[in-house]
Amino acid sequence: MIAAVLVARAGAAGIWNIGSLAAFAAGVAGGTAPDWLEVAWWSRKRRLWIAHRSATHWGLGWALALIYAYHLLGHAHPLAAPVFGFACGGLMHLLADWPNPLGVPWIWRRHSLNWWKSGSCDVLVVALAWAGAACVVWPLWGARAEHLMYGLRAFTR
Ligand SMILES: [Zn+2]
Repeated sequence: MIAAVLVARAGAAGIWNIGSLAAFAAGVAGGTAPDWLEVAWWSRKRRLWIAHRSATHWGLGWALALIYAYHLLGHAHPLAAPVFGFACGGLMHLLADWPNPLGVPWIWRRHSLNWWKSGSCDVLVVALAWAGAACVVWPLWGARAEHLMYGLRAFTR
């Protein structure tokens, strides 16, 4: 949701908001990507091909992808919105992984906030994500509402 709104705010939603929709769909996939990217899907045993929470959980990599994709949004690159959504989802995943003991390798070694065990505060994590989404949506929503009111006033005059 956050990625979709940021794409719209960057003026890159495009016709029928396809950019925002692509960012949303890619964001859903990106939200679980750090975990499924470490599974060897091509092998029958589906074991991990690298250590859990290593390269696929590298914060700097996800952040750079996000920044680069955001930059591409301004150049109307067709892949910018989905890549931006995917990276946004990946970063949200890392933020959700960060508080539990295993932690996340943001730059080099894993770091943990050590706030709770994995899975014990999911409701809080989801609530915080929605709060973040609300903060991002608010200015856009306000502008739309203003636009709508302006239209209504012009209509009823
Ligand atoms: Zn993870």
